[in-house]
Amino acid sequence: MRLSVTVWNEFRHEKRDSRIAAVYPEGIHGAIASALREAGHTVRTATLDEPEHGLTAEVLEQTDVLTWWGHNAHKEVADETVERIHQRVLEGMGLIVLHSGHFSKIFKRLMGASCALKWREVGERERIWVVDPSHPIAHGLPEHFEIEHEEMYGERFDVPAPDALVFLSWFQGGEVFRSGCCYRRGSGKIFYFRPGHESYPTYYHPEVRRVLQNAVAWAAPGCGPKPEFGKFPPLESIGRA
Ligand code: ZN
Repeated sequence: MRLSVTVWNEFRHEKRDSRIAAVYPEGIHGAIASALREAGHTVRTATLDEPEHGLTAEVLEQTDVLTWWGHNAHKEVADETVERIHQRVLEGMGLIVLHSGHFSKIFKRLMGASCALKWREVGERERIWVVDPSHPIAHGLPEHFEIEHEEMYGERFDVPAPDALVFLSWFQGGEVFRSGCCYRRGSGKIFYFRPGHESYPTYYHPEVRRVLQNAVAWAAPGCGPKPEFGKFPPLESIGRA
């Protein structure tokens, strides 16, 4: 299915650090967008410093799935934008939260938890295990795959128990992490995917790109009826005089 995807990126590291710009010359959003274009989707990108962060009501209205990468500037995302994204998720827009997006305003609001975790940045190996092989987000993946150099995120990850856990990460230093978590809020589907520290070429990794493609397909809005809420007349006579 061809979806309308908006890839959002804070896009600050790439502008101020030449080593990160060398890894992601088109920005992190450029690498993620290219993976999703490969899958045949219509992809636009949006970044923090654009007017309204590139996420106007019109853009969000046209978006089936939004992907989110942010790190240092979560606080700079306007509450009004967060409110708009939240509403769209409840209406059915899919949301893929990546790596340090665990501390974004939108993810914390949707989770209702601190979303805190352990971390360490020494470039150790991460091995990602597929723990739900029949889940659509695991489609086409091997039982496990490795990322040679990544930042470590370790448990406990303070989020609600996911509706489905697709991936579990092991790190060279000994920690483990629930690195692929599915949630539903309202009519919307949310997927948190752990890898993607800015100084490593993680978003060029073939299995990581496959996960991004699968996750977007999974998070697509459903085609079922739009629910009606509130006071409601009976559909049949209840038979009271
Ligand atoms: Zn990071």
